[in-house]
Amino acid sequence: MSWAAHDLEPYAFQRHLGGKVAIVPLLIGSYSPDLFSKWFVYGIEVFGVELQADDPTQFHRGWPGVGFTHSLAFGLVVAALLLLLTRSRIWAFSFLLGHWAHALTDVGDTIGTMLLFPFSTETIGVGAWAYAGHVGRLTDAGAYFSGLGFVWDGVWILYGLVSWRILTRAYFRETIVPADPFWGWAGKRLPETALLALYRASFFYGTTRWVAWVIWAHVVNDFPIDLSWGGPDWVDAAYD
Ligand SMILES: [Zn+2]
Repeated sequence: MSWAAHDLEPYAFQRHLGGKVAIVPLLIGSYSPDLFSKWFVYGIEVFGVELQADDPTQFHRGWPGVGFTHSLAFGLVVAALLLLLTRSRIWAFSFLLGHWAHALTDVGDTIGTMLLFPFSTETIGVGAWAYAGHVGRLTDAGAYFSGLGFVWDGVWILYGLVSWRILTRAYFRETIVPADPFWGWAGKRLPETALLALYRASFFYGTTRWVAWVIWAHVVNDFPIDLSWGGPDWVDAAYD
C-alpha cells in the first residue's frame, strides 16, 4: 500500500491532461480502492471491542475479501455507473484514471493487487516495498517510510513542486473550473478561496503527511532505512 502517492498522483495527471480531466472525480477514484476497507486491515476499537480482519492481508487484497476493489474491472464498473448517473464523460473518465492509478501503484508492494479479477484471483506485484498492513499501523508506517515506498511517494511530491503552476489561482480559474460544472455549483455556495483550498487540499495533505511521517520515523524514532528491493528487510513483510 502507499501512504501518500494516492493523494498526489492525480495532480501529475492534471498537469498533463489539463481540461480533459476533472480533479474531483480523479481524486475520488484515487482514494476509492481503500476507502471503506483500511480501518479493518489495521484494526479499530469501537466501544472497547477490537475489530480487525482475521487475515488482514487476505481481506485487503485477496478473494474472498475486498481485494476486487483494486482490480481494473472494478474501476470500469464504477466508472460506467458514474456515467449512467451523471451523464458526465469527464467524471467517468477521471474516476477511472484515478482508480487505475491506485490499483497499479499498489502493484509496487510485496502483495500486489488482483488487477485481472474476476478473470483471475492472482495478485500481481513487483515487490519493490514491503506490504506490512498486517503488523499494525505504526510498524507499517515505520517500514513504509524506511523502504522504497516512501521514495516513490517522494517522486510525486517533487513532481508536484516542479509543476507548481497547476496549484496557482490562475490555473485553477483557467483550467480546473471550466472543466467541471461542479465548481460552478460549489462557487454559488463558497468563496473562491475556499474552493481553491479544496482543490489544493489533497496535494498539501499528502505532502505534509509524508514529511511528518518521515520525521516521525527517522527523527522521533530510529527505524533503519533500507532501500533494497522488497525492503526494509527488518519488517515481517507479507508475500503472496
Ligand atoms: Zn490500495
